[in-house]
Amino acid sequence: MINIKSNKELTLLRKAGLITGNALVAAGEAIHVGMTTKELDTVIRKYITSHGAKPSFLGYGGFPGSACISINDEVIHGIPGSRKLCDGDIVSVDVGAYIDGYHGDSCKTFAVGNVSKEALDLMKATEESLYIAIEMAKPGIRLGDIGYAIAKHNEDRGYSVVKEFVGHGVGRELHEDPEVPNYGTQGHGVRLVAGMVIAIEPMINAGKPAVKVMPDNWTVKTRDGSLSAHFEHTIAITQDGAVILTAPD
Ligand code: MG
Ligand code: MG
Repeated sequence: MINIKSNKELTLLRKAGLITGNALVAAGEAIHVGMTTKELDTVIRKYITSHGAKPSFLGYGGFPGSACISINDEVIHGIPGSRKLCDGDIVSVDVGAYIDGYHGDSCKTFAVGNVSKEALDLMKATEESLYIAIEMAKPGIRLGDIGYAIAKHNEDRGYSVVKEFVGHGVGRELHEDPEVPNYGTQGHGVRLVAGMVIAIEPMINAGKPAVKVMPDNWTVKTRDGSLSAHFEHTIAITQDGAVILTAPD
């Protein structure tokens, strides 16, 4: 069931989204060569809790971190720990904040030090495809149209779309209906209406699309070892188009 949010709920979702977006900015400012992913997780947890919110991911399904931190060929769900960020790494930081009964969910892939052109190009295409999708998201558009556009933008550049994991509705629950795939058929799928709140989150691999879950039962990696990038915003559908709820201020 897709929950349509009232204006009051959208105000609360923006409150959660703002903390989420600002926590990602704090993460980006803190990232440096030699930092452990646990240290980065602590920066994010402290930002969220000092603003009166809770990290959405901490304890979610037993997840032990406040953020999912995924490096290079890790696609999503990396567990913060003792691994240090190295010059040339790309690191995807996925953050959620929960306050007053609502969640925000946003992710960004950051460059650590000097990264390859290959990595920068992948990050750029993935982020561009998120904003193409956000620009399209308005009442009457179908999720198949959005998924098609995300996939086309990336596949035209030789990249591939992760199919096993998708975007989702956001509200009182971190993951609500509908599923928001990063691929699709034009003219098919759920039709957007004002009041829907969805997280759009392209996960794009430089190589082949296949992924595998590691023995820690969380970390998802590309099967071929290629780099992967991930950008996400939670957005509200309004009559005038999409509003990015997880934009920082
Ligand atoms: Mg996320
Ligand atoms: Mg999400």
